[in-house]
Amino acid sequence: MSQPAVFLDRDGTINEQMGYINHLSRFRLLPQAIPGIRRLNEAGLKVVVVTNQSGAARGYFPTSLVEEIHALLQKILAAGGAHLDGIYACLHGPADGCACRKPRPTLLEQAALDLDLDLARSYLVGDRYIDIQTAANAGAKGILVLTGYGRGEYEYLRAAQAVRPVHVANDLLEAVEWILKDLNIK
Ligand SMILES: [Mg+2]
Ligand SMILES: [Zn+2]
Repeated sequence: MSQPAVFLDRDGTINEQMGYINHLSRFRLLPQAIPGIRRLNEAGLKVVVVTNQSGAARGYFPTSLVEEIHALLQKILAAGGAHLDGIYACLHGPADGCACRKPRPTLLEQAALDLDLDLARSYLVGDRYIDIQTAANAGAKGILVLTGYGRGEYEYLRAAQAVRPVHVANDLLEAVEWILKDLNIK
């Protein structure tokens, strides 16, 4: 039977928002990322990153850097006893008209096929309203975190949004604790 998952945006949600991460040295995990992801792993929930990375398409860095960053992310998480079950990235630019760039739900739908996930019982945690829109487009629940762009998006953009997050959390760990409660997982 398909199971719920927790999808995570990358920049501003797991790692510090630094504009384009155009070098490994700019990739820094947020303090609550490892404990948050570990809690999800321990609860038996699948954890999947869904991220727009248009920097390579814009010519700012090679596509291989995205792979290097994701390998580094998994390595840092492993050292902290945590892991991701999948990383799905859109590498296209906004002008490419691709099928996978958020807020399209394609990355989540592909992961749902690959990992047998139930999107209607799943969550997407992100620091931008585009993530909340993506969750809505996938039929999942969106949670806004106030790390990264989150505080500014919440303060200045929330009035104009057509979709609302089911919850607003200070950081990823708080979002995870809310999700576990929502799913009745101790
Ligand atoms: Mg983000
Ligand atoms: Zn794409």
